[in-house]
Amino acid sequence: MLLKESREEIVKYGNKMLESNLTTGSGGNLSIYNREANLVAISPSGLPYYETRPEDIVIVNLQGEIIEGKLQPSSELNMHLIFYKNRPDVNAVMHTHSVFATTISCLNEEIPAVHYLVAFGGNKIPCADYATYGTQELAENAWQSMGSKYQVGLLANHGLLAVANDMSAAFNSAEEIEFAAELYYRTRAIGEPVILNESEMDLMQEKFKTYGQVQKNQKVE
Ligand code: 13P
Ligand code: ZN
Repeated sequence: MLLKESREEIVKYGNKMLESNLTTGSGGNLSIYNREANLVAISPSGLPYYETRPEDIVIVNLQGEIIEGKLQPSSELNMHLIFYKNRPDVNAVMHTHSVFATTISCLNEEIPAVHYLVAFGGNKIPCADYATYGTQELAENAWQSMGSKYQVGLLANHGLLAVANDMSAAFNSAEEIEFAAELYYRTRAIGEPVILNESEMDLMQEKFKTYGQVQKNQKVE
């Protein structure tokens, strides 16, 4: 079985997405790119996360051809591949339908720097133009909106997309931006939120590179 560890991680984080209320049923999808093997492991389309087993994960190449797997890959395969093809820093992609991020996406608005944790995604969280789910147009809109600048973006009238170096980081970003989206919703419900300025958000992004248990002399990409 190809990419056994990646398959297991996709099963584990699919369940974490559910348990953390980042999605429901089979909504959203996730993948891991193994650069050495030049292959992508992606969740199958329409299978509830709690039923998904490592053998259900689909292995594809960067052209989207199935290399191993009996099931259809996620309908958003092209949205995952476009980031692997264009960003050397991205090896994991997570797409969710979390409630507050999706709420803001239904206004077709971005999330400004309402809290310093927005820096998990960038100086703000942009919102990609609407396109039908599972289309190349949606993949291109997401890429156009996030490009190389953002780790997290909204998809208009749909949900959230997080890209990262690994799956643990993609999950953390998706979770933190859902938290920021809820704060933005709540602050706008009772007043006008104060938005942090660009230089403070640049500083936050720098600080996050060495946040937590990172050794002082350890280089973080
Ligand atoms: P899949 O089950 O095909 O991954 O689709 C879920 C989804 O979120 C579509 O945008
Ligand atoms: Zn979706």
